[in-house]
Amino acid sequence: MTAKTLFTRIIDGEIPGQFVHQDEHCIAIRDINPAAPVHVLVIPRKPVPSLAELTAEDHALAGHLLLTVARIARQEGLENGYRVVINTGEEGGQTVPHLHLHILGGRALSGHGTA
Ligand code: 5GP
Repeated sequence: MTAKTLFTRIIDGEIPGQFVHQDEHCIAIRDINPAAPVHVLVIPRKPVPSLAELTAEDHALAGHLLLTVARIARQEGLENGYRVVINTGEEGGQTVPHLHLHILGGRALSGHGTA
């Protein structure tokens, strides 16, 4: 059995997290090191390592994650806009090998990065 990812440990309550959403398929927590006034991570319960490992079997999950992002953005009052980032793999800057979508907002963002 492979080791649990950091995010699975948060999902399982072994490490604390500030939850803003939970459902059958995913959770959302505030990032521990926020790059913007609102910085939320939307994380599938299924420990898919990255976007690159999503398969056709995950079709519904992928749609659910995006719809959840939009729902949380509304919940967080980001009606003026926000950014969604999925760092993927080593050169993509991914540090936690469990798929997650960053929602960044609450200030004007420029360029293409997470900040
Ligand atoms: P990545 O760099 O993989 O795209 O994003 C990982 C994110 O997870 C980073 O923004 C980092 O601040 C956040 N993070 C790392 N450890 C923890 C933690 O223990 N709790 C929370 N809430 N966020 C974390």
